[in-house]
Amino acid sequence: MVFFIDRIFKSEDFLAIAIILIATLSALILTYNEIGTSDVFYLIITPLFLLIILTVSYEVFKALLRTIGREMEKGKKEVEVAEGKFKASRVLVICPKCKTKNVETAKFCVACGEKLS
Ligand SMILES: [Zn+2]
Repeated sequence: MVFFIDRIFKSEDFLAIAIILIATLSALILTYNEIGTSDVFYLIITPLFLLIILTVSYEVFKALLRTIGREMEKGKKEVEVAEGKFKASRVLVICPKCKTKNVETAKFCVACGEKLS
């Protein structure tokens, strides 16, 4: 039990769990004030229903965020690949003397030192 509580407090979900529990408790109090102790069914069902709805919503939201994160990672990788291709496809200047490929910004051939136009 102590281990379980310890895990909840260390968990990144702690805030969400706290909010869900507070909302559930609020619902319990509101239901209690509205209906009174006589109707135990509603007193239990309403907060329980809210607890389930909030927990499910939170999990769905988390899954959605994870999907968005994955898609963003994928997009980043695609951009990196495209940039790599762009760099690879940069126009090369071929030396008229030794036929060595030089980068387009080179003024002289890296192999033979011939002036490149
Ligand atoms: Zn050359």
